[in-house]
Amino acid sequence: MTIDFTSHLNPAQWEAVSAARGPLLVIAGAGSGKTRTIAFRLAYLVQQGVAPENILLMTFTRKAAQEMLSRAAHLIGRELGGVAGGTFHSFAWTVLRRYAPALGFPEGFTIMDAPDMREIVGQIRTELGLGKKDRAFPKRTTILGLISKSRNKEIDLAVLLEQETPHLIPYAGDILRISQAYAAFKTRHGLMDYDDLLFNMERLLLERPDLTEFLRIRHPHVMIDEFQDTNKVQARLVRLLAADGRGVMVVGDDAQSIYAFRGAEVRNILSFPTQFPETVIVRLEENYRSSQAILDLTNAVLRGAVSRFEKNLFSRRANGRKPQLIHTVSDQTQARMVVDKVLELSQNYRLRDIAILFRAGFQSYPVEMLLNRIGLRFRKYGGLKFTEAAHIKDVLAYMRLILNPADLPAWFRAVSHVKGLGPKTCSRFCQAVLEGDQAFIAQLAKKFPDVDQAFALINSLRAEKPAPDSALERILEFYSPIFQLRYPDDYPRRQAGLEQLQQMAAAFDDLDAFLTELTLESPDQDDEEMDDHLVLSTVHSAKGLEWSAVLVIDLVNGRFPSRHALEREEDMEEERRLLYVACTRARDYLALFVPSSVYNRFQGGSEPAVPSLFISELPEHCYEEWRENYLGQLHLRHSSRQDQALPRGQKALPGNAPVKSAPRPLGFCRHKIFGRGKIVEVLPPGRLRINFSGFGLKIIQADFVILED
Ligand code: ATP
Ligand code: MG
Repeated sequence: MTIDFTSHLNPAQWEAVSAARGPLLVIAGAGSGKTRTIAFRLAYLVQQGVAPENILLMTFTRKAAQEMLSRAAHLIGRELGGVAGGTFHSFAWTVLRRYAPALGFPEGFTIMDAPDMREIVGQIRTELGLGKKDRAFPKRTTILGLISKSRNKEIDLAVLLEQETPHLIPYAGDILRISQAYAAFKTRHGLMDYDDLLFNMERLLLERPDLTEFLRIRHPHVMIDEFQDTNKVQARLVRLLAADGRGVMVVGDDAQSIYAFRGAEVRNILSFPTQFPETVIVRLEENYRSSQAILDLTNAVLRGAVSRFEKNLFSRRANGRKPQLIHTVSDQTQARMVVDKVLELSQNYRLRDIAILFRAGFQSYPVEMLLNRIGLRFRKYGGLKFTEAAHIKDVLAYMRLILNPADLPAWFRAVSHVKGLGPKTCSRFCQAVLEGDQAFIAQLAKKFPDVDQAFALINSLRAEKPAPDSALERILEFYSPIFQLRYPDDYPRRQAGLEQLQQMAAAFDDLDAFLTELTLESPDQDDEEMDDHLVLSTVHSAKGLEWSAVLVIDLVNGRFPSRHALEREEDMEEERRLLYVACTRARDYLALFVPSSVYNRFQGGSEPAVPSLFISELPEHCYEEWRENYLGQLHLRHSSRQDQALPRGQKALPGNAPVKSAPRPLGFCRHKIFGRGKIVEVLPPGRLRINFSGFGLKIIQADFVILED
């Protein structure tokens, strides 16, 4: 089957797809079809008679690689089973599996998984007698994280500590010793960790030129997507695999480099033409993903950035809706507005075509809670779900105990910091609480004063029955020192989750209702492919993907850009690129949420928030500005259209929602999300004002409800 490539590609894309076997760099902005170009080039090469085994394709996830392969396979109408690659790591693994003995590794060497690595570091720490009585000693995962980071960035561990975790400097010597012992352990036992795959592959290629030559002959074509996020060793591997750059095609966007914190080097893509002087550079300037209105905004986001390759994107999808900049009263009302917006959008789009994006995992917690409340299915990518985070579980355990002091799993959590208290004694204690066995409780309390304190706190809270927020306040007071001991390395980061919890608690009068809300079964996520679900994702995990509607939240200084970035110019540049990545995921609709205040536990309440400086920089003509007033209504502040104020729920829909004839007036109806409601007003043409119990007044398109007889 011959493919008519030119009908699927624009001239620049076709130039890249059909280019001769030289070094080739496709550098272009988001949504310009870079990934599509790789997939088509793959199909093109195969159609030209190149055997799939002769092509090495690498990208940032296996899933992304598979998707590309299946796109190409679909094009040429047959499987492309032989194409090598996936991620850099998986390719290295395939090579090492065969050739590692040449490096002195045993036949069938093992790759350690994360629990193995933790176990080994734990053993080493014990053997070296480090951190024995010191509860602030960095945890195994932190030590491993630092080791990995210093290797990927190729900087000294001591320098890394100084730059990024100054609070761990007192432990620098110990961490270094552990790191050296860990490396020696791996060598002694013929083990590799994830990072070793890349470094050992490099060593292999350097030590065995015959093998390098063999791989060059075997893979005369090497293609790499998202090249802007490769690190130093990955770039060296590319150079080794293709000495003169012949047959190498790299694709990427310097403006989307967002992994510097893990060692990504944007220089790899910017200096590619210098490394390989014969490089043919292809720039793609047409964006197929987003409407021009969205592009105007994303181009403006980039305007302040330092970028060497000039890109000037345009879209033929004119007349799109302007992005909406939505100022909400607080981060709490933001959650409500976001969910309202999603419900509105879901009338026109499938849920899976809508995404809520955020800088850090905890920022979506209030939204998650609302989504759970209304039973709307979502999947979260990047960052733990709120109720899965360990410290949140800890605090909830205390709260559960107020309601049910015989809750054994809750006791396990609540007193797990108490040294010497085993599970058996804990069960026995729980039993005693249930039976009111005061003698046993008193005996145990004497032996374990910490248990006594926890028990006393819970008892007094039980007796006083305070509102959820004051109960939480007291619990956090008690928990704070435990919290710092239990999570010595990252408690400052986790703090944000506790602040969110406090803010949520303030919205409830009743502890039971609050806990039920939080512990509601989260939707079953196994059958993800089958189901239509909303996407919640960190921006990092959204790379390369696209949705019809994208809502970016928490665009205030300190959250996006993140707090630490505000201190360093280069980090700010990375934050700007992150925002660019976020906004360029949108096809038709983009909303940017800016809460006017955010919760701060230290101040015991909300504090004013400053809009993200990337947002303040944007020219006004790029967006339509809405502001929530204290009645929860959105007002249009400026746009090309006439000014108007709409009650909540009556925001204009993106696109033209179908309008049908008005239904029978008044009576009751059912809505798939809000449940049963009373129709209080008919709003021609085709809308109803409905009072839903638990949700209040909503204005809904008549065709989205079922009328009751
Ligand atoms: P990112 O930088 O976000 O990774 P990208 O440059 O890789 O983006 P793609 O994901 O390849 O862009 O393409 C974006 C969208 O535009 C996809 O839906 C793709 O199918 C579509 N597209 C790209 N080129 C064309 C074309 N020539 N004709 C029609 N659709 C196209
Ligand atoms: Mg892409």
